[in-house]
Amino acid sequence: MLDTDVIIVGAGPTGLMLANELRLAGVRPLVLERHPHRRDTPKAGGVGGQILELLRYRGLLERFEAACPGPAPAPRFPFGGVHLDFTQLADPPMHALPLPQQHLERLLDERAAELEVDVLRGHEVTGISQDEAAVIVDVRGPDGLYQVSARYLVGCDGARSRVRDWAGIGFPGTVYPEVNRLAQVTLPGPVTVLGNGDLDIPGYGTIRAGFTRTDRGLFGLGSSPGATSVSLYTIEDESTEYDDDVPMTLSELQDSIHRVLGAHLPLAGSTRLSRFTFKARQAERYRAGRTMVAGDAAHLFPATGVAINAGMLDAVNLAWKLAADLHGWAPAGLLDTYHDERHLAGARTMLHAQAQVALRRGHDVAAEALREVFTELLADEQPLRRMGALVAGTDIRYPMPGTGHHPLTGTFAPDLTLHTDQGTTSVAHLMHPARPILLDLADREDLHETARDWRRRVDIHTAKTDDRPADSLLIRPDAHIAWAATIDEPADSAAPALREALSSWFGTP
Ligand SMILES: Cc1cc2nc3c(=O)[nH]c(=O)nc-3n(C[C@H](O)[C@H](O)[C@H](O)COP(=O)(O)OP(=O)(O)OC[C@H]3O[C@@H](n4cnc5c(N)ncnc54)[C@H](O)[C@@H]3O)c2cc1C
Repeated sequence: MLDTDVIIVGAGPTGLMLANELRLAGVRPLVLERHPHRRDTPKAGGVGGQILELLRYRGLLERFEAACPGPAPAPRFPFGGVHLDFTQLADPPMHALPLPQQHLERLLDERAAELEVDVLRGHEVTGISQDEAAVIVDVRGPDGLYQVSARYLVGCDGARSRVRDWAGIGFPGTVYPEVNRLAQVTLPGPVTVLGNGDLDIPGYGTIRAGFTRTDRGLFGLGSSPGATSVSLYTIEDESTEYDDDVPMTLSELQDSIHRVLGAHLPLAGSTRLSRFTFKARQAERYRAGRTMVAGDAAHLFPATGVAINAGMLDAVNLAWKLAADLHGWAPAGLLDTYHDERHLAGARTMLHAQAQVALRRGHDVAAEALREVFTELLADEQPLRRMGALVAGTDIRYPMPGTGHHPLTGTFAPDLTLHTDQGTTSVAHLMHPARPILLDLADREDLHETARDWRRRVDIHTAKTDDRPADSLLIRPDAHIAWAATIDEPADSAAPALREALSSWFGTP
């Protein structure tokens, strides 16, 4: 007799999102987190990309927006020292929320409490073993050592994942010898912000607003005239490996500024101090037997602002597949599509993150020219949209079994406005419970009839929509389209194709 179905190691954004999605799918996971309290070291300053749309599809986006201390959505997004500036576009290809990670984790934790997820804090996983039937986990809790068993284990235990190592999953890649330090600081009386945003330091002179490149690295100053608080940023080439959970100090920041600029900048205090290094690593496999990895445990990207998106989307992709397996109706190979789909998505994120390294790190004339060419390109709408979709992860098209698919197959379902007998609704609204949906947009009796055999697993909705993209859409719980019927597709081809798609994603009826 196993203690639980799924053990999740780590209550970061990935682990909490996975737990919440599993609860929606009718599974009761156990989350084990080594820290006794929620994290207070500042990490991410925001979250952006496709996950925001997914949160909207779960009916959660409004509360995440309401918790943002800054304006949401953020109109500009960093891209390798250049910016993606969406302010000109009425319908930007990506959104970002300036939601600090502590707030994000608090909201996910509150949601977990609403869904009655068991989150045990102060419980550190110290070892795992697995066989064909189960995973046994060794835990050090407040009352001592104990063991707990489950059908599956998911390592959401971050960059230094031990679950990944215990499962024998390789994590190849590169560490860039570069340290980024980011802070929001208050200034002592004598230091003033001038009308143009520059800083005046008595006895030293001025420090320019914006970015300053020197032989020792990059310094950034964000300020507004007369403000007593400014944001500071340094990047230096340095090969020390820091632990992200060990906080940076004010004097460490001042030393870094001194090395980069040669200036001693007096500082009164700080409201945010954080440091990060850039690594480019991706797990060779996202699954080894009954153990899976997700989030930072599966990938580390050398670019800002993209990691949480990738990790939480891993969780959404994995949850319903694990649940299908636990409920006993998963078709053969379903769980392996987690690796196939999310490794592909991770590789796509790695592609643009590595390109950002090339853009950002060069200090010579050629690198300046590359940045200038990129800035010019990104002033045009089409490349800006293309780049926005790449960074957001909205251009991902998961590979689907078979051939001759509708162009929407494998993509994220568009949020169509739907007119039904009960009134107006939307795809986003129908996705709140995270259940598979057959959306019949052309009142096709043949497709209804086919799907009826799966009605305990797949909800069937009939609706009208303007400019219908297909006669019917089969949408998975992660909002990706598993199959679509082309407009007026004859019943003798559409119905068997739907039956095949239903079987390959949702098992034998
Ligand atoms: C300074 C900084 C700024 C960043 N800015 C951004 C940003 O703006 N946008 C963005 O998207 N990303 C950003 N990131 C990256 C982002 O913080 C991570 O991608 C994110 O935290 C990954 O979430 P996760 O849940 O996968 O892992 P983590 O958040 O690392 O969570 C892992 C959890 O597992 C727990 N754990 C580990 N081992 C064990 C064990 N053996 N037993 C039990 N529990 C264990 C840990 O205590 C931790 O709580 C930033 C990172 C840093 C350091």
